[in-house]
Amino acid sequence: MHKLCLLAACLLLPFSVAFAQSAPANPLAPYISVSAPVVALTHVEVIDGTGTAPVADQTIVLDHGAIASVGPSASAQVPSGAQVLDLRGHAVYPGLVGMHEHLFYTEPGSAALHAFATGELIETAPRLYLAAGVTTARTTGSIETYTDLRMKQAIDSGASPGPDFDITGPYLEGPGAFSIQMHVLSGAADATRLVNYWAREGATSWKAYMDITPAELRAAIDAAHAHGQKLTGHLCSVGFTEAANMGIDNLEHGILVDTEFYSGKKPGVCPGQRPVEQEMATKLDMNSLPVKAMIHTLVAHHVAVTSTLAIFESFAPNLPPMTFMEREQGPMFSEAWSGVLQTRAQIAEHANKSLWPVLLKKEMQFEREFAAAGGLLMAGCDPTGYGAILPGFGDQRNLELLVQAGFTPSQAIEIYTQNAAKYLGRENRIGTIAPGKQADLVVVTGDPAKDISAVEQVDLVFKKGVGYDSQKLIDSTRGMVGIR
Ligand SMILES: [Zn+2]
Repeated sequence: MHKLCLLAACLLLPFSVAFAQSAPANPLAPYISVSAPVVALTHVEVIDGTGTAPVADQTIVLDHGAIASVGPSASAQVPSGAQVLDLRGHAVYPGLVGMHEHLFYTEPGSAALHAFATGELIETAPRLYLAAGVTTARTTGSIETYTDLRMKQAIDSGASPGPDFDITGPYLEGPGAFSIQMHVLSGAADATRLVNYWAREGATSWKAYMDITPAELRAAIDAAHAHGQKLTGHLCSVGFTEAANMGIDNLEHGILVDTEFYSGKKPGVCPGQRPVEQEMATKLDMNSLPVKAMIHTLVAHHVAVTSTLAIFESFAPNLPPMTFMEREQGPMFSEAWSGVLQTRAQIAEHANKSLWPVLLKKEMQFEREFAAAGGLLMAGCDPTGYGAILPGFGDQRNLELLVQAGFTPSQAIEIYTQNAAKYLGRENRIGTIAPGKQADLVVVTGDPAKDISAVEQVDLVFKKGVGYDSQKLIDSTRGMVGIR
């Protein structure tokens, strides 16, 4: 790390001397609009991340990257010398802690799953996450793990903008992998070897995938835990109850991918997505005893669930609304955009046969029941599928869908902030707005408590007290999603 900084300084020196007038000293400067050591956000509504009702007309003082105080503007002490931002008509909530934030994107032309391939979004993904208000992000499955690790280094060293990343090792996948970009495990010993190798290389979390065998999953969980790290899964070969009993920490996507209720399920084998979805849509009752028992097991074993409603919604006809899609158009490479529109039109053509409107409702009901039973619900973007959901934009859509699912706006924000911070064991530093916490904050125009779509109107994102201009970050990605 230290060596790297020295090297970078040496290389940059002649460059910055030669281009002293044009090159900014701080590579992040083009995206930063507030960088004073002490900043006061005044007359702002606060949604603090704990799930409680919003509080109007507050003043938050940020001091050298931390929150110094929060209180009513009428009695607030604004330190002399502070940069004061009058934020009447705005709301502030904690920086989002995104729990399914891949750094890759479905390549244009990958509409069919058998041709599924992804490309790394080296420049755009970190900027778009940050622009949307995501200040901490778990990658939840990596394709180019070394690239992801170096992206994290670049962000941590201040060379490029983005959230604090928790880098997940390569997918832990068994025989039958549909993506040629994934390693296929050869057994339990291979799972242990992979985790140990990538833990040494710097990966800090783990994701099991659809075809992992039970023995490989058990070995991977044990290896991750031996490093003091957690493992999540987008499972198919193993049901939620079985995985909870093995000691898994987290399950991605929710009940729609839980195969344990499928009549044709064979132990340790993924029956494929379609037949499971068919039965789920037509037969499974979310209030039935087996579902309640599964939820009870997850809660009893402290297994968290990551909501990814935005990616599910994109499989439903004519969703998300075109007003949402149009916001994504600017950052997208033209071929990626036209490919997405094409797939969207095909989905609309077969609207009367789609299971997704029903599946989406069932998933929403499951997430409500899981949270009501005391389960730790978190959320993330998952910018995969046919490419309709972009980094960051998908996180904002998820907040809106959590509200559609029946959570209050404050609870939706709690799911996206404090809950995830608890899972990561970082709740003392991030996830809520309180004195002493890291100054990771999202400033939006409007009032998300009254209309959650205000989360799309991000003005500023503070990460460790530095205020980034959301629009400048988005503008810098123009036409590049799908390329880099
Ligand atoms: Zn994923």
